[in-house]
Amino acid sequence: MANKLELLKRGELAIISIQNPPHNTLSAQVLAEFPAILEMVKNDASVRVVIITGRGLFSAGADVKDIWGIAKRGDMKEALELLAGANAVVDAVENLGKPTLAVIDGLCLGGGNELAMVCTARIATEDSRFGQPEISLGIMPGMGGTQRLPRLIELESALRLILSGTVITAKEALELGLVDRVVLKKDILSEAKKFSQDILSNPIQRTAKIFNLKHLQAILSQDIFQNLIKSKSADATWSVVEAVTRGMALSLPEALKLEQEFFAELAMKDSAKRGLAKFLKIELPKTDTEQKKSVDTYKSEYAETPPWEKEEYIMLRNTLREFAEKDIKPRVAWMEEHEEVPRDILKKMGDLGFYGISFPESYGGFGLGKIGVCIFADEITYVHPSTAVVAAAHSSLACDAIYLFGTEDQKQRYLVPGISGDKIGALVTTEPGVGSDVGGMKTMAKKVDGGWILNGAKQWVTSGEIADFIVVFAQTDPLGGNKTLGAFIVDSDAELRSKMKREKKMGIHASRTNSFPLNDIFVSDQNVLGEVGQGFKMVMQVFNRSRIAVAAGCIGFIRRAIDEAIKFSKDRILFGEPMYMKQNTQLKLAEMESSRMLVEAAIYEFAWRADRGLDVRNEAATVKYWAAELAKKAVDTSLQLHGGAGFIKDYPISGLYDDVRIFPLFEGTSEVQLLTIAKEMIKSRIL
Ligand SMILES: Cc1cc2nc3c(=O)[nH]c(=O)nc-3n(C[C@H](O)[C@H](O)[C@H](O)COP(=O)(O)OP(=O)(O)OC[C@H]3O[C@@H](n4cnc5c(N)ncnc54)[C@H](O)[C@@H]3O)c2cc1C
Repeated sequence: MANKLELLKRGELAIISIQNPPHNTLSAQVLAEFPAILEMVKNDASVRVVIITGRGLFSAGADVKDIWGIAKRGDMKEALELLAGANAVVDAVENLGKPTLAVIDGLCLGGGNELAMVCTARIATEDSRFGQPEISLGIMPGMGGTQRLPRLIELESALRLILSGTVITAKEALELGLVDRVVLKKDILSEAKKFSQDILSNPIQRTAKIFNLKHLQAILSQDIFQNLIKSKSADATWSVVEAVTRGMALSLPEALKLEQEFFAELAMKDSAKRGLAKFLKIELPKTDTEQKKSVDTYKSEYAETPPWEKEEYIMLRNTLREFAEKDIKPRVAWMEEHEEVPRDILKKMGDLGFYGISFPESYGGFGLGKIGVCIFADEITYVHPSTAVVAAAHSSLACDAIYLFGTEDQKQRYLVPGISGDKIGALVTTEPGVGSDVGGMKTMAKKVDGGWILNGAKQWVTSGEIADFIVVFAQTDPLGGNKTLGAFIVDSDAELRSKMKREKKMGIHASRTNSFPLNDIFVSDQNVLGEVGQGFKMVMQVFNRSRIAVAAGCIGFIRRAIDEAIKFSKDRILFGEPMYMKQNTQLKLAEMESSRMLVEAAIYEFAWRADRGLDVRNEAATVKYWAAELAKKAVDTSLQLHGGAGFIKDYPISGLYDDVRIFPLFEGTSEVQLLTIAKEMIKSRIL
């Protein structure tokens, strides 16, 4: 088994580095390797300062799976043994007889924070994060957190950290005295070396903070602490408060022993098991009453797994999530700045089959229907709305039009390479002066020998500039209106691209939007799509199908708005408490979450109806309307919760605010969706 700890020597410095990706948890193996390495540096007379650090991040704490295993087995002795091993390591660091420096870059949580706490000093990069999040898992610190933290920083701050489970920034940790220096990420190594020299020339003397029972009681009686206590597991908060109360009357070694006993007892409780299982997403066996309820429920025919929760869709979602995280997220800032989704990303989505999610396998698709396309829109929009828009314009508009109305030859020439990502497509109806009123378009298609000649101008087409083919809708009779539209597949070339104007936009910057003239563009008869004269019906059919997926993109917006708000409100301290504890924050979070649930349920239900071939005109209009409006509202709500930070570009919510605004506008404005529903209502209920 590869070593999880690395020891490097640089002159009088010894550097112990934790290498246990992805979270550098203090797993059994990491803890087992520590004593020998500590012994080595202790006995090496040339070593004068020991640096403890982690590769990629400091340490996200103990391995929760180890604690879960012990809790599940219910073996108190095993729990105490685990703690004894972990505490022996921190004791050895604390009593090494040489100065130690914790060099923190990234997360420093739970056991990681407790390890850093025993070092002589701590230096951190500015984006590091600190905390004792155990209480959120129904457990408590077990490597000295409840005893050393109040002795290192003020009692009130220590209790706030432990009882809230909140994660704080490096700057806040510096203010509390939890770290000694905060530096730029790029300077961490040189600053750590400098700090080591400073420690050698000026040894750090710390006196433990003194606290007493009266002080503790006064703190705990404050509303903020009462609220904290009420909001967390009763068993865990009781154990923390008891450990601190009783520990303060004891010497540190005795207090640490007491903490271990409280930890082990707490880990045996059902509340801890529930908290740990929830964190690890483990399903616990149901209690008798829950069992009875679920048996009753399952008798109902409605209790079947909904199609969109079946295994193939869960696998699709996981694949998309991984792709978005690995291939899109790291490049979002570049894409927005350069107003481009690079071709290699577009091609990779083709290689992975994402453009073919709803198309039959015979054309290279997955046959996973509209439900699959909705999952795609949701997941990709969450990470980068522009990429989702480019992919949707290609797949759900251009490719879908060819799939629905194309000849077999057209499918082979455009749909198959479109699905593989070898060709990228666009579709356009909009013109200067013609948007919602599709039938009013002025671009003319005139029949000539062997094909058609197009003249006019098109406006605001997504991906015009990067498209290899564009499905252009045009009028074949100036007086014909809706009844004489045709659709023509234009092979784009350098000349056409050179005439395209790239529009400057408010949001979705990486998705290019172009306007262009059509001057005597010849389209052969082989490239006429569907039946000339049926263009209006064709484009409405395409829009009705794609609108559900556009709505699904809005789930991504709402989820992201919620996540950004949660992240911000956990970190932000407002009038002495984390912002998420304010009732206003909770109400707004709940409002956003409830809108997510509503639109999600409706979208997948309607996508399923579409997949069963039902007419979903009204359903598509309904979800396009509500999802877009609710996404706009959720993003605005999340921005408001960010305060002024919401207006600052460093925070992703400001970009989302700009991006979401297009959703109630394109593919039919919100008003056009309502008009569609009104038209049906008048037809069926009034006339
Ligand atoms: C970023 C971006 C990308 C786009 N991508 C594409 C694309 O790929 N392909 C494409 O063809 N188009 C595209 N469009 C165009 C888009 O679909 C249209 O802008 C949209 O359909 C609205 O048309 P319009 O702008 O002409 O607004 P208008 O139709 O002029 O509407 C103006 C206002 O009047 C309201 N309104 C319209 N009709 C009625 C009515 N009957 N009664 C009452 N109120 C009404 C509208 O809701 C709106 O509030 C894109 C636009 C943008 C901004």
